[in-house]
Amino acid sequence: MFQGILIEKDEQGYRAAVKDIDESVLPEGDVTINVSHSTLNYKDALAITGKGRIIRSFPMVPGIDLVGTVEQSDSDKFKVGDQVLLNGFGVGEAHSGGLAQKARLKSEWLIPLPKAFSPRQAMSIGTAGYTAMLCVLALEKNGVTPDKGEILVTGANGGVGSFAIAILAKLGYTVVASTGRVNEAEYLKKLGASEIIDRATLSEPGRPLAKERWTGAVDTVGSHTLANVCASTKYGGTVTACGLAQGMDLPASVAPFILRGVTLTGIDSVMRPTADRLEAWERLAEVLDPSVFDDISTEISLTEAMTVAEDLISGKVRGRVVVNIN
Ligand code: NDP
Repeated sequence: MFQGILIEKDEQGYRAAVKDIDESVLPEGDVTINVSHSTLNYKDALAITGKGRIIRSFPMVPGIDLVGTVEQSDSDKFKVGDQVLLNGFGVGEAHSGGLAQKARLKSEWLIPLPKAFSPRQAMSIGTAGYTAMLCVLALEKNGVTPDKGEILVTGANGGVGSFAIAILAKLGYTVVASTGRVNEAEYLKKLGASEIIDRATLSEPGRPLAKERWTGAVDTVGSHTLANVCASTKYGGTVTACGLAQGMDLPASVAPFILRGVTLTGIDSVMRPTADRLEAWERLAEVLDPSVFDDISTEISLTEAMTVAEDLISGKVRGRVVVNIN
């Protein structure tokens, strides 16, 4: 038996609770891991609160991120005692995940814990920080360099937004942060934002083309915000879209794409090939200043994760939440 959050759904309804879990709940996999840290992402909060259809079969341990030590391995890639890192691949959705003391996973989903990071630091980054890095890599690959102008980050106080600001600022970009919590300006400026704008200026239906301002953008919000971001991106600029905090819709026109040559790049972290993951984590190790972890993340227990999940869905959580499993 081991402790973890278990989500069940039966005639008594949908429920999540911290429980003693029997090993028989763990699915098939060639590596068994003693989990030390996990995180709370937006997706995990949707799963725990039942506010989004994330979990594909029951019972299920949520948690799309984890770091831990290999306890048993039938894989030649990892041996007992290795520290490993997992982000996504449907773990915590279709395959029991990181919010428990034990996980059994497929070795092809794992990468070694980067030497630059402690388990806690790696989970402070988690899927949010790794996704932010994938967005920045996409901007770079599209030729968006720091000298070309301002980069907009939406959902700035969230996990992806906070890391996107910290990474971009460290790389020398001028970052404008869009947020519904302008009272957090001090935090956003400390991360590296040079200007804060109220998200209300972007969240309502807008014109097909607006005044050109952004050379690039990291959008975590979707919906009218993403449409307005595309409409106000400069000729030849790139917008990376990774999130849907405002909505999954995209009520946009083709005008920015056909008249200004704007590129809209979709970013998925979940099924990303291993080579891209290794590149993103290597760049995170190069770029991030260790002081950023204390600024961005807070640490909680498994039990606290139950209530913090509600706060995260209500938009009350700033930055990242690391869950210390033991
Ligand atoms: P968080 O909950 O930490 O942050 C989301 C932020 O979005 C909030 O802090 C808030 O920022 C802003 N926001 C919330 N509600 C609204 C709204 N109605 N309108 C406009 N802005 C809003 O989530 P994450 O940062 O972890 O994830 C952000 C998004 O990216 C989520 O939709 C998530 O599902 C997605 N995601 C996608 C991945 C992928 O692989 N494509 C990977 C990781 C995340 P503020 O208070 O500053 O306005």
